[in-house]
Amino acid sequence: MTKPGSIVDVRIIIGGRLQSSEADEYDDVFNPSTGAVIARVPLGAAADAAAAVSAAAKALPQWSRTPVVDRARVMFRYRELLEQNFDALARLVTREHGKTLAESRAEVRRGIEVVEFACGIPSLFMGRTIADIASDVDADVMRHPVGVCVGITPYNFPAMVPMWMYPIALVCGNTFVLKPSEKVPLAVMRLGELLLEADCPPGVFNVVHGGRPCVEALIDHPDVAAISFVGSTPVAKAVHERGTLAGKRVQAAGGAKNHFIIMPDADEDLAVQALAASSFGCGGQRCMATSVAVPVGPVADSLVEALSAHAESMTVGPTDQHGDADMGPLIRPAHVERVARSLDMADSEGAVIALDGRREFPGDGFFLGPSVVDRVRPEMQVARDEIFGPVLSVIRAGTLEEALAFGRQCEYGNGASIFTRDGYAARQFREHFNAGMVGINVGVPAPMAWFPFTGWNRSFFGDLHVQGQEGIQFYTRQKVTLTRWFKPSGDSHHDPVWKG
Ligand code: NAD
Repeated sequence: MTKPGSIVDVRIIIGGRLQSSEADEYDDVFNPSTGAVIARVPLGAAADAAAAVSAAAKALPQWSRTPVVDRARVMFRYRELLEQNFDALARLVTREHGKTLAESRAEVRRGIEVVEFACGIPSLFMGRTIADIASDVDADVMRHPVGVCVGITPYNFPAMVPMWMYPIALVCGNTFVLKPSEKVPLAVMRLGELLLEADCPPGVFNVVHGGRPCVEALIDHPDVAAISFVGSTPVAKAVHERGTLAGKRVQAAGGAKNHFIIMPDADEDLAVQALAASSFGCGGQRCMATSVAVPVGPVADSLVEALSAHAESMTVGPTDQHGDADMGPLIRPAHVERVARSLDMADSEGAVIALDGRREFPGDGFFLGPSVVDRVRPEMQVARDEIFGPVLSVIRAGTLEEALAFGRQCEYGNGASIFTRDGYAARQFREHFNAGMVGINVGVPAPMAWFPFTGWNRSFFGDLHVQGQEGIQFYTRQKVTLTRWFKPSGDSHHDPVWKG
């Protein structure tokens, strides 16, 4: 950790203003393609968290009473600004994360789609009524905001994951404090500046930075009503437990170990392309990345050979200057080492390294090539742990039923895919695979803005998932009103009549 110096210090957003953090400690933000330090991020703790929550609490009464259509109009203006700044945002994501520009563009597009969804929230915000639920009594239910909401997000989607949360929370009438990953704070700061430009009132959206102490100060703050978390499973579980123990609403999405079944009738070329894109895209650092390929029956040998050849032909290199690398760097040198160690582990457990991505790369970027590990068994650590890098394990299955059983042995339950032309196999897979988001002939079955991100098992802690209508449910509470209407005494004109 370094003290602030000549490199730009990332600021925070509180009460509608960009300002300096109260933090004593700073961490370096890198360009993973070059290894260069590009900024310093404050590791703010209690003081920043308290100031941000206080600004959000102050803005809450007025914002929650602002008509929902006016709240949505902020998102209409925001969407235009995001479109105008689309390329610059994508370049920023590539610079601080290392994914290719095409991947960053896709990420920003997915985020804008959530803003588009949020523009339509007035229609989804409507309540429901039953007139005359009892004699002269009407019942209705209306949605109300929950209050100050907090978002805590991971490094692997610097723009998209934060955008899963705050556009929906804000149009629902809440105010928000975002704590992005300290590894990638830059895109979020630009997103926040653009939201202020869209006339989002001061205090409605705030950003602070930091690690665990900052997160815990936010969760523990008595004025915080709801917490949205996306990150690794141990932290998701801890955040969920801490928040719910304090009586707060928590949705916490965790890690993953996604399977990809290849049936004997699948088109091998298509399956290999989809597998490689799913396993090695974003350097394998996607919660919907495939990390276990499950060829069924006789396709295994040919699949492993074709996949290894495809992966070996991928160019791995810097993504920030030229658009020609197929795969960029990993987030930090320590992560490169951790992912590389999983190959040693696989080797020691008796798996066969069909393609080894460990090699020297020019420059100081944080690179590791794609690897394919064959003859993995479901009980091996390499098959059980989330590696979160470009390492694809291959577990060979004799039948579809065996492939489905491997899924049941996995403690995660985020995503899974099948490639097949057989409707029965597809249906069996859809019904019985033990995960919340499944793809049939789709390699990365990540739900778009209109649908919830429905991880199961240890990939999610809580009830209502992020995005889509579940997002609206999470960020609102319902109030039922029963109203008795008295008849004026002696008024016979109010006796029931049927005018049909
Ligand atoms: P992480 O869990 O290390 O960090 C996530 C956030 O939590 C960051 O903002 C970080 O500052 C904070 N944090 C870290 N340690 C903490 C602690 N002990 N207490 C409180 N807060 C803490 O995750 P990451 O490495 O940034 O991101 C990668 C992980 O996120 C992977 O496991 C990936 O599968 C997961 N992920 C899941 C989804 C999903 O939808 N399920 C989406 C994207 C990423």
